[in-house]
Amino acid sequence: MGGGRVVEPDATAAIMTALAGGVGLLALMTLGYGTVLCRLDDRPLLRRICLGLLFGAGGVAAMLQSVPVAPGVYLDVKAVPVALAAPFGGTLAAMLAAVIVASGRIAIGGTGMLPGVAGILLAGGIGLLLVWLTPAVEWRGARPLFLLAPVASLHTLSIFVLPWSMALPAFIHGGLPVALFTAAGVLMLGTMLARERRRVDTERVLRDAALSDPLTGLANRRAFFGAIDREVAGALRQHTPMSLLMLDIDHFKEVNDARGHDAGDAVLVALSRVLLRGVRQSDLVARFGGEEFAILLPCTPVEGAFLLAERLRCAVRDSGIEHDGTVLHVTVSIGVSSLTRNADRPDSLIKAADIALYRAKSDGRDRVCRDHALCPPEPVPAV
Ligand code: GH3
Ligand code: MG
Ligand code: MG
Repeated sequence: MGGGRVVEPDATAAIMTALAGGVGLLALMTLGYGTVLCRLDDRPLLRRICLGLLFGAGGVAAMLQSVPVAPGVYLDVKAVPVALAAPFGGTLAAMLAAVIVASGRIAIGGTGMLPGVAGILLAGGIGLLLVWLTPAVEWRGARPLFLLAPVASLHTLSIFVLPWSMALPAFIHGGLPVALFTAAGVLMLGTMLARERRRVDTERVLRDAALSDPLTGLANRRAFFGAIDREVAGALRQHTPMSLLMLDIDHFKEVNDARGHDAGDAVLVALSRVLLRGVRQSDLVARFGGEEFAILLPCTPVEGAFLLAERLRCAVRDSGIEHDGTVLHVTVSIGVSSLTRNADRPDSLIKAADIALYRAKSDGRDRVCRDHALCPPEPVPAV
């Protein structure tokens, strides 16, 4: 808000209606908030910038709903998104939002510009201060909003940057409804944002649970099938090589029988760490079944896949797995397949690796094989 002449009492209804409209408009931000959280989950900097833009746009939208009470003096609820930016977007978002909204207010100009900008900075500062002073608060429920809401409405005191004779009547007539609707807006929009945040988090937890193996934390069979479909399609489109390793622990049943199921589980966990350490970030290690693992190797021709498989086999054989005061040793057999003219579909790639794995087992285990029927060696150019 800004200062000027006294607001006529018959304008109160119009002010209330417009401020309520402003609060309703802010509710639309919930949609944008949820979308940014979902889409930019793995890009924190971009997410903070987008949230700053979102809260800034919310403040500007609120100013578009403002009520002119005197030349150059407007009442609105722009302080609501500005105050909520820090708790729901972080420091960078809060600063960005305050700069955007303040720039908007400066562009509008008029007598109320100075108190308007001061109010924006005050609301943003209150949000930031509260977040900094209460780092343990997660802003996932309504409780912290009951503190932010009344404190944020104190931004209306910014009217007193104007001369006292102008500020006091403007505050008495305009300050109260603005404070009231700011508090209501912080509670309403804040509750919706908190709910949206909980929804996005729950969705992420459920998605992770649906796609990962609870014992090893690796991608599970479902995630693997999704990934192989995508990778095969991409490799065929871009004419890049792609390989697959199928890996099975040798005589694993004996570990379970001799040392117990816990020891077997410890072996599975330790093995998954060895595999993850041995592959590139772009490779996908998945638990395919009980003691069977699949490793997807984008941009890797069969020779490279074979070398990697050998390296993994040796790493597993050479690593001792500590469990209950003893050290366990296991070996693995690995089947290798690559995308070729004969195996150019996910299922044929898996079948080829399976056949190769079967051969590695029947040839004596602790070895790497490739399926020559479906993945023949590349023809050697004639010299
Ligand atoms: P091979 O060398 O032929 O692969 O022999 P193997 O004993 O490894 O194969 P087999 O298929 O006979 O046995 C696999 C064992 O893996 C049997 C099953 O109880 C065990 N297993 C499967 N999932 C788990 C698990 O999550 N934890 C534990 N501890 N054992 C598991
Ligand atoms: Mg086995
Ligand atoms: Mg098996």
